[in-house]
Amino acid sequence: MDSTGLIDLHIHTSASDGTFSPQKIVKMAKKKGLRAVSITDHDTVDGNEEALKAGTEIGLEVIPGVEISVEWEGRPVHILGYFIDVKNKVLQSTLKNLIAFREERNPQIIKRLNALGVNILYEDVRTIAGDGTAIGRPHFAQVLIEKGYVKNGDEAFKKYLKRGGSAYVEKKRLTPHEGIQIIKNASGIPVLAHPYSIDGIKNKDLEHFILQFRGMGIEGIEVFYPLHNPQQTLKLKTFAERYGLCITGGTDFHGEQKPDIKLGSGFGALKIPYELIIKMREKRGGKPR
Ligand code: AMP
Ligand code: ZN
Ligand code: FE
Ligand code: FE
Repeated sequence: MDSTGLIDLHIHTSASDGTFSPQKIVKMAKKKGLRAVSITDHDTVDGNEEALKAGTEIGLEVIPGVEISVEWEGRPVHILGYFIDVKNKVLQSTLKNLIAFREERNPQIIKRLNALGVNILYEDVRTIAGDGTAIGRPHFAQVLIEKGYVKNGDEAFKKYLKRGGSAYVEKKRLTPHEGIQIIKNASGIPVLAHPYSIDGIKNKDLEHFILQFRGMGIEGIEVFYPLHNPQQTLKLKTFAERYGLCITGGTDFHGEQKPDIKLGSGFGALKIPYELIIKMREKRGGKPR
């Protein structure tokens, strides 16, 4: 099988907090010469159908995906799911609950902002996010920029929205076990996302941490990521190989929401080879999808 080509397996669309539609993402990826992408929106699989359809039409492989935030020792950890059956009922109902948790939390963020003298309404956030979107903090950031309270997203997070920030409100999350199991139950591969982004994670604790998550069922590590330096990439790759875990990689592209992050790989230092997908398929064996 032809294993050449480059990919991007971590992309957010307008179904969550990215700024481009799934169809637009697929077109952009094709134009950049990528061979495959995965749409990994927060807490929703709603962008996958449109992306798969566009991919079939223009000849780009689209791997169904999702990104779920779980709670581990009081900290958020992100789990990616690949090759999921997006129609799986348990997956869909669990994601619906996660959106409900967001809807509980979002008005509380507004309350905090209002108490800080920021006069915005939840309606403003809904309008900017659009119908049927999994609303998250980046949408609040957009409103804060639009209303002139901050200059950019960075400032919005630093001043108000970052974890522990003045308007931050915790969100109810799944346990790692729950998050991993709903992905597996939907025939997917659960992958530990950007391990170096976990709050307070230290190099010396990383191996133990990965082993703990492997014990809970994780089957891959996101090794290739724009924020990983060469040493970090190598370290994660070594752990993946040592513990029989898949290697994945993606940019975490959010469109204009994070303007410094570009879609795709192969243009700068980040090269994510198609080969990783072949290995993931081998690992899944004969499972459907
Ligand atoms: P939420 O799902 O509402 O908790 O928002 C999480 C999203 O906010 C992440 O996926 C990022 O897109 C964005 N985000 C989190 N922290 C920051 C930060 N410090 N600066 C900019 N964006 C951030
Ligand atoms: Zn995001
Ligand atoms: Fe993430
Ligand atoms: Fe992400």
